[in-house]
Amino acid sequence: METRRRFLKSVGLGSLASMAIPGISNSASPPSQVKFVSTWSHGRVANKVALKAYKDSSDILSAVENGVRVIESEADGRSVGLGGLPDRSGRVTLDASIMRGNGACGAVGALYNIEHPISVARKIMEDSPHVMLVGDGARQYALQNGFPDKELLTDETRRDYENWKAKEKPDLPPVNHENHDTIGLLGIDPQGKMAGACTTSGWAYKIPGRLGDSPIIGSGLFVDDEVGAASATGLGETIIQVSGSHLVVELMRGGKSPKEACREAARRITKKFSKWKSGDVQAAFIAMRNDGEVGAFAIKKGFQYAVQEGEKTDLMDADYLTR
Ligand code: ASP
Repeated sequence: METRRRFLKSVGLGSLASMAIPGISNSASPPSQVKFVSTWSHGRVANKVALKAYKDSSDILSAVENGVRVIESEADGRSVGLGGLPDRSGRVTLDASIMRGNGACGAVGALYNIEHPISVARKIMEDSPHVMLVGDGARQYALQNGFPDKELLTDETRRDYENWKAKEKPDLPPVNHENHDTIGLLGIDPQGKMAGACTTSGWAYKIPGRLGDSPIIGSGLFVDDEVGAASATGLGETIIQVSGSHLVVELMRGGKSPKEACREAARRITKKFSKWKSGDVQAAFIAMRNDGEVGAFAIKKGFQYAVQEGEKTDLMDADYLTR
């Protein structure tokens, strides 16, 4: 850095050393009021809770954490927290990640019988020397830190599971627009501080031990105050293969708008992995730039996202690649 500064000075460009480089948006002004964007129609509820939590705490991380906690507790969502569909052994296992725009992050994978994986992820981020804990270790860590033990299978999901098992050839249901609803929630405050949270029970009837994109920093979630944030939903196996959320943020760093960055990430999945192209596969991204602009894009029709600007909540239909 010192050498670069001296070089710029020597050629009479000293003042340029502190100027923004084109395509890098670290000089953007943040929005005048707090803003959130989240996945699916349940994002409307999550956004409102996030807004209230922000007003109470003035902390954008607490806002996104509290926003997704409400969805983790909703028993009728089939792929988040309580009421999520189990793996093929009948156990509900949860994946979650949380991240601040300064790079601090935490994640938990294949966690079972704990209602709020997002808060376990935050605990790991803030109080452990690690970024990610999985399985039995994650559960022990949660219990030791006061998270209560809770059965996450409901009467309804137990019945669904029994019916699935009784099928002649039980197989993985496709991850299409009907059967997945991971919540990803991104926020920015008027100081330009950003945070994101992502939480899911993953692919219904997965092989025990499977992790999706949601707990993997850079795949299900990525946040960088210098540029913006992104989160993903859909078939995690495809999102991981392109490091989806990190890709979206880096595309924004290169100058693409949030929507264009999401579009390019979706396109890359279908282009690179022809195996997914023909199938009934959905993957979708939401993004927020550090000036508050938001965008989204999906492979298939049916993806919705919720935008919160001040008190106003809008549910939007995302554009998509395949018609
Ligand atoms: N992305 C999640 C996963 O693959 C699934 C979803 O979005 O519903 O685990």
